Amino acid sequence: MAMALAVSATAAGLAPGVAEEGDFSQAEIVEEVWLDDTETAEEAPEPQEAAEGEDAGADSGGTEAEEAGAASVETGSLEVETVELAEEAGAASEETRIVEVETVELAEEATADPSGQGLVDSVETIPPIDQRLFIPSYGSTYTTQTDGSSYWTTPMDITDEDAVWKMLMDPIVVLDTGKKSTEKTQTFLYREPDENSKKVGVVTCESQGVRVIETLENGWSLIECYSSSFHATKVEAWNLLVSGYVPTKYLKTVKPDQTLGLVIDKLTQRVYVFREGKLWTTLMCSTGLAVWNGTKYQPYNETRSGEFLLMSRVGTLTSDNLLCSMAIRFNAGDMIHEVPHTKNGDGSRNYKRAEGKLGTKCSHGCIRVQRKKTPEGVNMTWIWDYAKNHGRIKLVIWEDWQGRQIPVPPDDMTLYYNPKKGEYYHRSETCYMAKNVTFTPFQYGQLEEGEFAELDHCPYCVPALRKSEIEEINLQYGPGRDHDELLTSLRQGYYEYLKE
Ligand SMILES: [Zn+2]
Repeated sequence: MAMALAVSATAAGLAPGVAEEGDFSQAEIVEEVWLDDTETAEEAPEPQEAAEGEDAGADSGGTEAEEAGAASVETGSLEVETVELAEEAGAASEETRIVEVETVELAEEATADPSGQGLVDSVETIPPIDQRLFIPSYGSTYTTQTDGSSYWTTPMDITDEDAVWKMLMDPIVVLDTGKKSTEKTQTFLYREPDENSKKVGVVTCESQGVRVIETLENGWSLIECYSSSFHATKVEAWNLLVSGYVPTKYLKTVKPDQTLGLVIDKLTQRVYVFREGKLWTTLMCSTGLAVWNGTKYQPYNETRSGEFLLMSRVGTLTSDNLLCSMAIRFNAGDMIHEVPHTKNGDGSRNYKRAEGKLGTKCSHGCIRVQRKKTPEGVNMTWIWDYAKNHGRIKLVIWEDWQGRQIPVPPDDMTLYYNPKKGEYYHRSETCYMAKNVTFTPFQYGQLEEGEFAELDHCPYCVPALRKSEIEEINLQYGPGRDHDELLTSLRQGYYEYLKE
């Protein structure tokens, strides 16, 4: 059974403030690119198109020319900043208090509970989607919110375009500690309105949105967010929903770009691009996966959920022979970037390894996005370019709470394929994988029959998964199970820490 942590007014830890690069080890080299006019984000190369035969070989991935972002990039090492805790946090007193950690039983009880602690107050009767009751603040003990966007209480239902759009356009409340607060600075949530009390969570300044529960008259506010704990932190609340106090003067409201917003769902491993009020297109992605890497456990790989603003367009990240192009920072070391590639002997690009994993968790925290264009012409290059000429774009990451389920599409949903040698099934009648091919429609319900059963999922237009694949995922996320036992076990240290 999954648990949600609710720290009743609280905090803990040391100097986190470390921006570790999501996708890499400490040995990585990071090229920093800051927005300026000299930067020429060249049009990224088109994926190789299959000529007439379509599908086959449409994607050798290695022949790309130069790539956006990597060209005229200023390089500089990424400085790991440690938050100046001295003043802000006060010398961490070693005072220990018993923190009441309430584990809220999520699965059946919580969702079914009509009183629901008010968590589902805003849920109206919308479509009968299984996860309609799941919201980002699922399991929270707090039922009121005085500030922060509707993100925290909006059901994780991608089909409710109006609600999702409002969530993406709502102003976001971030923390600005003053002085040298930057997008790589982090600060703490405290157990009590006192900087000498225990630190119970970490929040990244400038880009991470928080839910304001209550503002006290003593200069402190109680907030809630997913803890942005990276590997060097002493508040090892790995992507846990935590609540605690911060100085009210740190709170700052920012209005995001009003034309575009992104939703990343860790359950479906998709990026949903909303534009002008509508779900415009969908891309495959990979978020972080907690692992044992042969030397140590890496619970901090799990991508931190929450709502964020896209910040600096950093450029290309490299690690050994892996290159991640067009990285845009959104949460300290966590960035959204193109699916990584390696260089072939002749200098061409090879995306094979990481691209085959899109749609599943596998990064070290960053969000890897497909480079192949959807029928709407969107890929990571498009996002990179768009971000250059717009304000802060909101990026929302939905937590894959245990109990959430992916809806199975209706049998009469239309899909497409090429009866002549086509290897893939497609979402769209037009697809970059097969530009000059006329597709034949068929229905989702036929996908397991005859020749359709042999078709693969198109990596360009991102059609729905097969019913059997959805059912497999739903089983993992079913009530009473644990889709990530390793992460659950590695979080136990935090609960112990709270009791110290
Ligand atoms: Zn396609």
